[in-house]
Amino acid sequence: MTVLEKGNITIHTENIFPIIKKSLYSAHEIFLRELVSNAVDAIEKLKMVAFAGEYNGDTDNPKITITVDKDKKTLSVTDTGIGMTAEEVKKYINQVAFSSAEEFVQKYQGGADQPIIGHFGLGFYSSFIVAKTVEIDTRSYKDGAQAVHWTCDGSPEFELTDSDRSEVGTTVTLTLQDEETEYLESARVRQLVKTYCDFMPVPIEFEGEILNQQPAIWRKSPQNLSDEDYLEFYRYLYPFQDEPLLWVHLKTDYPFEINGILYFPKLKPDVDVTQGNIKLFCNQVFVSDHCEEIVPKFLMPMRGVIDSPDIPLNVSRSALQVDRKVRKIADFIAKKVADRLKELYKEDKDQYVKCWKDLGTFVKFGYINDEKFKKQVEDILIYRTTANLSGNTEEKPTVQVETEGDAWQDVSAEGGIVYDGESYTTLDEYLERNQKRHENRVYYCTDPASQATYVELHKSQGLEVLYLDSFIDTHFIGYLERDRSDVKFSRVDSELDENLVSQDKDTEIVDPNTNKTRSEQIKELFEKALNKPKLTVRTESLKADDPQGTPPAMVLLPEAMRRLRDMTAMLQQEKAEFPEEHILVVNTSHPMIQNLAALSQGAIVSEGSSPSAELANLICHHVYDLALMSQKGFDAEGMKQFVSRSNQVLTQLTNQAV
Ligand code: ADP
Repeated sequence: MTVLEKGNITIHTENIFPIIKKSLYSAHEIFLRELVSNAVDAIEKLKMVAFAGEYNGDTDNPKITITVDKDKKTLSVTDTGIGMTAEEVKKYINQVAFSSAEEFVQKYQGGADQPIIGHFGLGFYSSFIVAKTVEIDTRSYKDGAQAVHWTCDGSPEFELTDSDRSEVGTTVTLTLQDEETEYLESARVRQLVKTYCDFMPVPIEFEGEILNQQPAIWRKSPQNLSDEDYLEFYRYLYPFQDEPLLWVHLKTDYPFEINGILYFPKLKPDVDVTQGNIKLFCNQVFVSDHCEEIVPKFLMPMRGVIDSPDIPLNVSRSALQVDRKVRKIADFIAKKVADRLKELYKEDKDQYVKCWKDLGTFVKFGYINDEKFKKQVEDILIYRTTANLSGNTEEKPTVQVETEGDAWQDVSAEGGIVYDGESYTTLDEYLERNQKRHENRVYYCTDPASQATYVELHKSQGLEVLYLDSFIDTHFIGYLERDRSDVKFSRVDSELDENLVSQDKDTEIVDPNTNKTRSEQIKELFEKALNKPKLTVRTESLKADDPQGTPPAMVLLPEAMRRLRDMTAMLQQEKAEFPEEHILVVNTSHPMIQNLAALSQGAIVSEGSSPSAELANLICHHVYDLALMSQKGFDAEGMKQFVSRSNQVLTQLTNQAV
């Protein structure tokens, strides 16, 4: 063996390797990715050389082989690439590789306080993170090139000798440090190849098996991909998960290069929307599972792959966040996502609504957080409504018609979208439909179950109610109102629209002694029985074809007051107490209330604390509690009292019946 050269690598920092190792304390494993990437590059280069007619050897079966030798504690990566001559080893390894190593050290000597995304682009010298000795055995593709062998033990000294290697290509062999022998374990090597190299375009063999299988479909043209291809890729990336709702294929070369596929997953209610699920690649090499800095925050729940050589990966994460190019890439991604949604809205309304249940929250979150995105999606925000829409957009929407008397028909109109028996509308369509009856006022419901009475009441009078019942909606309404300052949102239980109550006040004096009307009498009855100074009791006659079908009483909490309460609760991070100041509307047209009035009237006549006076009192409480229930206004004590009072009322009633 001839020693061609022994020498010192010209670096200015003595012993850079301990520093590199320390800087990369958590990311030792990336050395394998770097070595395999170099091997892929070398293979591509040989292909190019062959293409240019400068190499006649075989380039049809490129391969990278990883081997481990537990006894010798070595791990090797062999490629069928371009190889290096002695001069090239000196130039590329001793100079190029080590000067970038030095640059890295200078940059991070102060301690890598800011993690670099995936520690990308560290290159060849990252082998020294895990190796005590690194050897390169290589033969250049050039005719008659002498194969060479390079050894370095981590100090700036190296040795270069002739080698008897006959095949073109390179083998890099690491003798692992004693504390890094995990990389001799088959399972560990397999896992690393699967993670980092799965989509690399060259077969990677280990223990006689090709480990990487998948072609990087995001690099293909969308025209050449079927829905099934996209779904299959999704299943591969996220096994045992629900199918995605839809996807967006990103592909552009200018002003930056980016390829990728982003999927909208079905969101589980417990999804952590701050946790990124998008995989970041650089030229098909896996970099990181987190690209929070690149993808706009509101798109974080999306999944899939982004591959771009234009994202600077060897800068700190915080530098990345303010990088102009990265910001442009983020805008590009948001725009593509909005385009896809608009396309779906235009072309397949059914599918759009089907996805809306999951996407709605996403889109609203984007609306709140990103001005540009807001502009793009504001026309495709839809709301489930109580109206009966036809879904037929051919004809111009007709506004509901007034029928006999002042009863209104159920809101039914052309337009909107009907899916699965439910109607959906945009805000503008809603406002236009209801302009005559309640201009610029939107009635909404946040909890169809507990607000059912209120929703029914509105429906029965032909008032259209929108369902704004996702967790983001309360917040979202505030933003909508800011952007549409002419429009006011009222929750169904915050006030009574004039259309809901009969305007003819009863004027009949029922008690000649006190000159009181029936309404006044009922109001007084409740005020006395409940004895809550902060509660406002109001009497109204609710309109209905069948008064039995209306609620005997309702609790209203004015919109502004409720919002204030919600806000305070949110800031203090606790459950909102139901405020003592609220309104109890007693429905004077309900037969039970009329009976109650008669009952108490009888009690007054008979004077003193008669059984009927006691029952009337109990019933007042009971009616109030039932109304409060829809507002979830009960605490534990309230619940206890309600149950015990219910039993008392029932006992009294049964006593009277027997
Ligand atoms: P980079 O790959 O970013 O240029 P590296 O430090 O990884 O930096 O490698 C330095 C140089 O060494 C490469 O540019 C390449 O010319 C050469 N090199 C590294 N590995 C190989 C290999 N397996 N086959 C051929 N050349 C290689």
